[in-house]
Amino acid sequence: MIIMKTDATEEDIQRVVKEIEHSGLRADVSRGEYMTVIGPVGDERLLPFDRLATLPGVKEANRVESPYKLISREYARFFGEPGAHRTVVIGDVRLGNGEPVIIAGPCAVESRAQLMRIAEEVKQAGAHILRGGIFKPRSSVHSFQGIGATGSEEAEEALYWLREAGNAYDMPVVTEIRGESMVDLVAKYVDIMHIGARNMYDQDLLVAVARQRKPVLLKRHFGASIEELLSFSEYVAAEGNKDIILCERGIVPMGKGKSFTRYTLDLAAIPVIHNETYLPVILDPSHGTGRRDLILPMSCAAVAAGADGLMIEAHYDPSEALVDGPQMVTPDELKVIIDTCRQLRGIMAKKN
Ligand code: PEP
Ligand code: MN
Repeated sequence: MIIMKTDATEEDIQRVVKEIEHSGLRADVSRGEYMTVIGPVGDERLLPFDRLATLPGVKEANRVESPYKLISREYARFFGEPGAHRTVVIGDVRLGNGEPVIIAGPCAVESRAQLMRIAEEVKQAGAHILRGGIFKPRSSVHSFQGIGATGSEEAEEALYWLREAGNAYDMPVVTEIRGESMVDLVAKYVDIMHIGARNMYDQDLLVAVARQRKPVLLKRHFGASIEELLSFSEYVAAEGNKDIILCERGIVPMGKGKSFTRYTLDLAAIPVIHNETYLPVILDPSHGTGRRDLILPMSCAAVAAGADGLMIEAHYDPSEALVDGPQMVTPDELKVIIDTCRQLRGIMAKKN
C-alpha cells in the first residue's frame, strides 16, 4: 500500500504507478478528498518498497499481507470516511445507504407471463430490484435447468423478458451468470451481474464479470470462510470495479442428524464483513433456510445485524414453481417482510 502525502502532485502519483507497472504489477489508485492511496495488484514480492518510499510525494510504502486489501476498511481509511459503507448505485436504487434494499422475484424465469405477473406483484409489495434465474445451477441434470439451458436464442429471449419486466415496473434487474461464455450476452440486459455460490471460486469468471463495469452480486460459497469470500471479491476490485455487493446465503449444516434447514445461515457474517470491508452485504434467507416460514424471522435478524438488503424468492403461487417452491413467499408475505424490516431498520437507526 503506497500512501501519498497530502500535497503529492499528479506527477508524483503517476511516477509511483509507473514504478509499480515496471515491476509487472498493476496499480489501483484511490483518490480521497485529502489523500491518495495506491494499492499494488499482483505479486508484491517483486516490488521494491524501500525505493518506492523514497519517491517524491510518497508518505509511506508498506507491504500488506492480507489477501484482501482493496476492499478493506484499512485501505478506505486513507481516502474515505472512516466507518463509511460504499453505496452501490443501481439506476435509482442506492444499496448500502441505510434503507434495506429488497431484491425479489422467482427462483427461475419460466415464461414471460409468469415473470411479468411476479414483477408487478413484488413491486406492489415494495421490492426495489427484480431477480429471476435464467441459467440455473441444479444438482441434477434431470431437472429443469432454466430457460437459458435450452439454447442461446431462448436465453436471449428470457433475458429480454427480464429487461422488459424491469422496465415495465421500474426495477433494475439481476440474473446469475454461470460461465464466462455468457458474460457479454447477460451484460447486455441486466443491471447487476450475479455470481452464484457455486461459482464464487471461479476467478476467471469473476474477472470477466468485473470487466463489464456493472455492479456485481457475489454470493458466499456454502463451504467458504468469510476470508475466502472477501479474498475472491478482491478479484473484482482488482479490475477497478468496487461496486460489489456481498451476499450471505448459508453454509453447510453440521452434524449427522436431520438438518431442519437447507443450509445454516451465518448471520454473524454480516457485522463481521462490515467490520472488515466497506462493501455492502445482503442476506438471502430463501436459499439459506429453504423454508417459507423462516424467511420473515431470518430477514428481521439480518436487518437487525445491519444487512444492507435481502434477496428473497417470491411467486404468486409457490406450489406452481418448477424450482424452490417450498422456500418462496407470496407477494402478500413479501409485503409483511418488507414493512417489518423497514420498521426494524427505523428502530435500529434511532438506537445508533
Ligand atoms: C440463486 O440465487 O438463484 C441461487 C441458486 O443461489 P445460490 O447460488 O446461493 O445457491
Ligand atoms: Mn432458488
